[in-house]
Amino acid sequence: MTDEIAIIPGDGIGREVVPAAVRVLEATEPSFAFTEAEAGDAVAEREGTPLPDSTVETVEAADATLFGAAGETAADVILPLREAVGSFANVRPARAYPGVDALRPETDLVFVRENTEGVYSGIESDLGEGVTTLTRVVTESASRRIAEFGFAYADEHDADVTVTHKANVMRTTDGRFLDAVDAVAAERGADYDTELMDALATKLLLDPTQYDVVLCPNLAGDVLSDLAAGLVGGLGLLPSANVGADNALFEPVHGTAPDIAGEGVANPAAAILSAAMLLTHLGYEDEGARVRSAVERTLEEGPRTPDLGGTATTDEVAAAVVSRL
Ligand code: ATP
Ligand code: MG
Repeated sequence: MTDEIAIIPGDGIGREVVPAAVRVLEATEPSFAFTEAEAGDAVAEREGTPLPDSTVETVEAADATLFGAAGETAADVILPLREAVGSFANVRPARAYPGVDALRPETDLVFVRENTEGVYSGIESDLGEGVTTLTRVVTESASRRIAEFGFAYADEHDADVTVTHKANVMRTTDGRFLDAVDAVAAERGADYDTELMDALATKLLLDPTQYDVVLCPNLAGDVLSDLAAGLVGGLGLLPSANVGADNALFEPVHGTAPDIAGEGVANPAAAILSAAMLLTHLGYEDEGARVRSAVERTLEEGPRTPDLGGTATTDEVAAAVVSRL
């Protein structure tokens, strides 16, 4: 059966790096049916909405989506799109590559972040007289679901799991999270370590090699994965996945990069690595690995885009990756 892939370049350099990633996907073995859809500032100007219903329908009907970036309308695009795929897990690998300047060149870890609750519940109140509150929601079902996903991901990648939390302070909510993780681990016969999230921030900075898969509540995952992004160098290198039960959306971590958009020199690595995650997610593990190693060789041997000190264009880098498949 042909897998259906929704392609949403969006705005800014999304329009440059997503086509580059599609070229790489087209050069791999599986034959995909691509459907391009629009989202972001440009379509908002034309049609009055940054996320037309037809785009949501395309994403819902597809097996997976590759998304670029959206400009000012980003929040109105990406949040509903993540919802459209039923995303409950945000997966962010942070990996340093030979040939790319990095604060910690030995970094190679993956954040698996709970993506539906915690302090991003949206339940905030203004009680008046200068007092505001936020409700932190942690449910057993969402905690179990992310734990099952995280342990399964670690199994597939033969990786150790570290669970981060702040249950010494947030006893009830992170206590619930930890209990659910522990129950899932016991059912699977899996081992794991735990680390307080504040201590983990320091340890990640000093020695990221201690960690493989880091399973995080929502806010901790947001902050710590950005910290790890700083360990590995350019924003142009970081892919991500938003995974749901039977659909998923893949996107580079970077935004529209208005400062370089339109020049054809955006680094396509993050988008191509997002495409590699898409391949692996759909079960094309060999293909995903081949794309990853082709990107790796290209980062190491060139050509490189200006953000990495080179002079190559987006298309030249994509062509080099394709030639190394
Ligand atoms: P947005 O609001 O869409 O996030 P931004 O101004 O925050 O836009 P980002 O896309 O987040 O821009 O990028 C931040 C910086 O990193 C910019 O200077 C941008 O040029 C650079 N950058 C990001 N992605 C890439 C890439 N793929 N290739 C080269 N440079 C990049
Ligand atoms: Mg940004």
